[in-house]
Amino acid sequence: MTTAAERLAKTAGAGVLWASPGRVNLIGEHTDYNDGFVLPFALPQATAVSGGRLAERRWVVSSEQTGETVTFDLDGGGKVGGWASYVAAVVWVLREAGVDVPGASLTIASDVPFGAGLSSSAALECAVMAVLVDLAGADVPMRDRPRLAQRAENEYVGAPTGIMDQAASTLCHEGNALFLDCRSLATEQVPFDLAGAGLKILVVDSKAPHAHVDGEYAARRRACEEAAGILGVGALRDVDVDALPDALAKLDDETMRRRVRHVVTENQRVLDTVEVLRAGDLRAAGPLMTASHESMRDDYEITVPQVDTAVRVALEHGAHGARMTGGGFGGCVLALVDEEHCDTVEVAVREAFAANGFTPPDTFVVTPGQGTYRISG
Ligand code: ADP
Ligand code: MG
Repeated sequence: MTTAAERLAKTAGAGVLWASPGRVNLIGEHTDYNDGFVLPFALPQATAVSGGRLAERRWVVSSEQTGETVTFDLDGGGKVGGWASYVAAVVWVLREAGVDVPGASLTIASDVPFGAGLSSSAALECAVMAVLVDLAGADVPMRDRPRLAQRAENEYVGAPTGIMDQAASTLCHEGNALFLDCRSLATEQVPFDLAGAGLKILVVDSKAPHAHVDGEYAARRRACEEAAGILGVGALRDVDVDALPDALAKLDDETMRRRVRHVVTENQRVLDTVEVLRAGDLRAAGPLMTASHESMRDDYEITVPQVDTAVRVALEHGAHGARMTGGGFGGCVLALVDEEHCDTVEVAVREAFAANGFTPPDTFVVTPGQGTYRISG
């Protein structure tokens, strides 16, 4: 199967061609909106966008995935809806940032599945941004793009995402995970040479139907903000793991205590994972991943039977660690496995899904890929 970028490179006419990847988060879940730490890496799977200038100031956008072509300008008032809103959002935010965005014809092709928690939305936004900035001949540094793409998704599309997806899709380097401080936006490339360590990351897309995600996400955010208010801190990031017992003692609500415990311990697990990766001890990330999953399952209560099953079975079949990645209530599981155990784990998870009557999962191996990159033009 050719990649999306290769397909577009064959068919795209004159113009420019850029790609931005999807991502998985190795560890650090629901920490982003608490000003905390995350450790995503980019996927080899990416969304490619080719673009050429048009004489008029309008945008003609086709997606290989939806099979549709949508034309819009932003002068008539009213918002562009549907999938094209992600594209219109980027035009809008670049104009807000003072970029004179030329009219353009854009073609989109992607290898990132939609809605699986692999961040196809950020991949699309970041690739569209790269093409439009290039066509405009504007100077928008890569480090400034995640904030712009996040604002596009938050304010134009209306999806309340944190900064992680856009930062990962833009800033990751091949072979590395991206240690991101969601408060300062400081980043560090952390070497993550899976092949060199004889390891693989197996992704299990649980295919669990996402239900109540938006409401639950909003409820978790609210609980964290309320707790930060009671504790008198700017965000839960400011509660150190050593200060956790004292903080919990100040909270009356048992559910809120568990939410806080997840966020505070999860931030520490990100820091610990960065330490072991810096030391080149990749296997030591496994137990931290598993502890992260248990915290999401028991304290944050965002897992579902499909992902819990995938994690349990992976561990039973030799994975060093496994966890759900992404916002929760479905989505994907990552298992850190020795190369020679990967097939066994994959088969065992498939069998367990069948035995439980779950929809068959998708399974694939990922390696840390490159953030936004130019293919031609
Ligand atoms: P995720 O980011 O986890 O994949 P989201 O719900 O945030 O899920 O974003 C998915 C949406 O992004 C899709 O429903 C679609 O509207 C849009 N999208 C992503 N990739 C493409 C694409 N290649 N073509 C058209 N729309 C896309
Ligand atoms: Mg998304």
